[in-house]
Amino acid sequence: MSADSAVTVLGLGPMGRALAGTFVAAGVRTTVWNRTPGRDGELVERGALRAASAAEAVAASDLTVVCVVDYDAADAVLRRADVAAALKGRTVANLSADTPARARDAAAWAADHGVRYLDGAIMTPTTTIGTPDGVFLHSGPRDLYDAHLPVLSALGGTHTHLGEDHGRAAAYDVALLDIFWTAMAGCAHALAVARAEGVTPEELAPFAKGIGAILPGAIESMAAGVAAGDFSGADNPITSSASSMRHIVATSEEHGIDAGVMRAAAGQAQRVIGLGYGTDGFTRIAELVAGRLAPAGATAGAGAVQG
Ligand code: NDP
Repeated sequence: MSADSAVTVLGLGPMGRALAGTFVAAGVRTTVWNRTPGRDGELVERGALRAASAAEAVAASDLTVVCVVDYDAADAVLRRADVAAALKGRTVANLSADTPARARDAAAWAADHGVRYLDGAIMTPTTTIGTPDGVFLHSGPRDLYDAHLPVLSALGGTHTHLGEDHGRAAAYDVALLDIFWTAMAGCAHALAVARAEGVTPEELAPFAKGIGAILPGAIESMAAGVAAGDFSGADNPITSSASSMRHIVATSEEHGIDAGVMRAAAGQAQRVIGLGYGTDGFTRIAELVAGRLAPAGATAGAGAVQG
């Protein structure tokens, strides 16, 4: 890290504090600001510089990292006239989470205001920041990314530039969190169903981790199947998946446990079967939800249904 490297961090929630603290520990001159005062005490004790306003904070560094709850919050900070003026000619790396469309809108605003702009997403929890386990995704101009990578690398982990389109990092983020949150919903539900059957969380956990360990292989084969248009279900037809899901719905509802998420997933599998693809694999659901699944035997493109 060069002796004159500097960064500003806007947003001192759990993630913003982890980022700022890691910059400080790496010897980067770190200026911090948060909408609600009082969240910077420990950071300042460790060497961060407290700014009295967001405009003062962004004027202190060539690179400003933003990490707030979403882009409504980021816009509320960045689009103030004094902040926008102070940012002119400087770089924002927005590591807040939101949709690809909001990321592109933020990039367009930045371009209109003479602000250089990188978008990004953090895919791992606060505890990984500053460790090899952190995963940071970036999108936007490659030369801008390369110019600021030395400072961003102080956060540890792996940094991947996904392309010039500012929406790319958020596109990965929403797709990856789609997997994460449905898995988390399943996990919370499973703990409730297991407990209703007298299985304690501690008893279930080792086996639940075993289920998690199956997912990497399933992800690889599903991705390969969707890429190749190969929906073969020779080893695991969707009729079998639907049957398994019905057992979960039945057991849940016998105990008065809401089975809404599983009912929705089972309903999708049932629609695939109803369209005549019962011997195909679960991957067919990707076609169904995209509205690209016509009844089996129908002319291609005709009769596609919305998932
Ligand atoms: P939050 O998502 O709760 O964000 C809190 C921060 O947002 C605080 O600095 C808060 O300021 C600020 N904020 C909220 N509303 C506004 C507003 N209207 N104007 C200005 N600032 C506002 O906590 P995290 O720090 O954990 O998350 C920050 C980002 O990092 C999110 O986009 C999150 O999805 C992402 N992330 C978080 C992870 C984690 O493990 N925590 C993991 C990966 C990504 P104030 O203190 O004033 O309320």
